[in-house]
Amino acid sequence: MIVSIFYLCRIVGEMEEFSEKACIFCEIVGGRAPSHKIYEDDLTLCILDINPLSRGQALVIPKRHVPWWHELSREENASLFQVAKIVAEKMMHSLQPDFVCMYARGRRIPHTHIFLVPTYSGDVLDRFFNALELFQESPQKLAALSEARSMEETANLMRKSGMEPVQGEQS
Ligand SMILES: [Zn+2]
Repeated sequence: MIVSIFYLCRIVGEMEEFSEKACIFCEIVGGRAPSHKIYEDDLTLCILDINPLSRGQALVIPKRHVPWWHELSREENASLFQVAKIVAEKMMHSLQPDFVCMYARGRRIPHTHIFLVPTYSGDVLDRFFNALELFQESPQKLAALSEARSMEETANLMRKSGMEPVQGEQS
């Protein structure tokens, strides 16, 4: 039993080591991969995103390999959001967007990163979120369309709109 726990720990340790080795953000933090650094403190680094949706899009990342933002220590959490605010203020001053959008996901690279996107009315991100909001609202709108009264109103509207009245209907 002791032996198998030992091997399990070894395997988990190797997996963690592997995931950090394979992590591009750990490579950047360690200075082994290039980046455009914008700002850093002891716990956090901010770099330009190499695939921006708008000019100046940046990523705020903890220096420690922490997969998801809600797993950060209190100190890392405070540092991350403090750096995000400082960089957002830099963006507002230098790029003059309407505001700076912030979000976190991490499906592709599970090393916490906060996206900071300077956004302008009608830009790609604006249109994406407008479409997403429309999608969020649509089930209710679709449900309303199938209500009996709505169906009858629609049927009446369509019946009355043609050149030829439907058989049995008065135009
Ligand atoms: Zn990492």
